[in-house]
Amino acid sequence: MDKDSPDWQASVSRFGGIVLLPKGGPSANPSARRPGATTSLTTRSSPSNSVTPTSRLATIQRIDLGGRQLFIRADRPIFYATRWRGSTYQITINAARLTADLQGPKLGDSSPLSDIQVEETGNNTVTISAKPRDGVRIAGAQRLTNAVVLNLLKPGEQPIVESPVSSPSPSFPGNPDTPLPRVSNRQVVVIDPGHGGPDPGAIGIGGVRETDVVLDIGLEVSRILQRQGVVVYLTRTDERDVDLPPRVSLAERVNAALFVSIHANAISMSRPDINGLETYHAPGAYLGARLARTIHSTILSNLRIRDRGVRGARFYVIRKTSMPATLVETGFLTGQEDIVNLRNPAWRKQMAQAIAQGILNFLNGS
Ligand SMILES: [Zn+2]
Repeated sequence: MDKDSPDWQASVSRFGGIVLLPKGGPSANPSARRPGATTSLTTRSSPSNSVTPTSRLATIQRIDLGGRQLFIRADRPIFYATRWRGSTYQITINAARLTADLQGPKLGDSSPLSDIQVEETGNNTVTISAKPRDGVRIAGAQRLTNAVVLNLLKPGEQPIVESPVSSPSPSFPGNPDTPLPRVSNRQVVVIDPGHGGPDPGAIGIGGVRETDVVLDIGLEVSRILQRQGVVVYLTRTDERDVDLPPRVSLAERVNAALFVSIHANAISMSRPDINGLETYHAPGAYLGARLARTIHSTILSNLRIRDRGVRGARFYVIRKTSMPATLVETGFLTGQEDIVNLRNPAWRKQMAQAIAQGILNFLNGS
């Protein structure tokens, strides 16, 4: 212990072993929680106006680094959002606090992370900021029961590939006879922004066009997945007319692991009260339903949008594809709540992030 350490008190635990706590409570001196030079665990007191009763908060109990995975464990299900801030990956957990004796992982020279910060960030949120070492990539956060796992992949553990989307030839459309690059050992995903060109899809409140909204979301999903080393093909990257059969045949030709079609819903201008997320799979498609549920729940846990459920439907693109396929209706262009979000670029980015996260969760779990 250094000279600034507080006085400590010891007691015998009912579960065996000895408990050492700084006098005056575990948060009396934040430096007492610092288990290693590269790990810091700090506490900020929550504002007094916080709304979640303490009894309903999830308590983060352990954060362990085990080889290629960072485990964040709590005493109940946790709800989180993820984002990159520069070269740091941040997980923000809502309605959560840190256990008094939380130990962060010890980071050595061979750890895939060069730094990790764990903080109570006010309003009952806990933020974990993980900085991967050069060459290490974070393959998305994955939800387990009462836990979140980050997969940390070092170079060679799974090849980081150049995206075929950035080169013009493999992007659809194009000559269907053009051989596509061989893909092996890589996960291939097809993202299908609905409609396009002369077919604007639904037109919503204020003249917002489905084709514009879903292209923006689809392109962003693609960018996020590519950064995680996934090979992405888009059925369209601009405003053009693509029939339904070529969308399916693209997915078959590139041997896609999964197919995600992105749409926005509409009902009637006289029903602004109908809002919410619907995610579809082909009737009876077991893996398609799992993919749909995974993406649907990831969106619900990251965005404010009503839940209209995961449903079976006979849409062409999800019925004719041979791989797990889903169609996401990202909200109602005719809904008074959803239209505010659908026309907001920042919200569309969050939607894209959640869809990409759901895809990564599905790929990691299967
Ligand atoms: Zn549509």
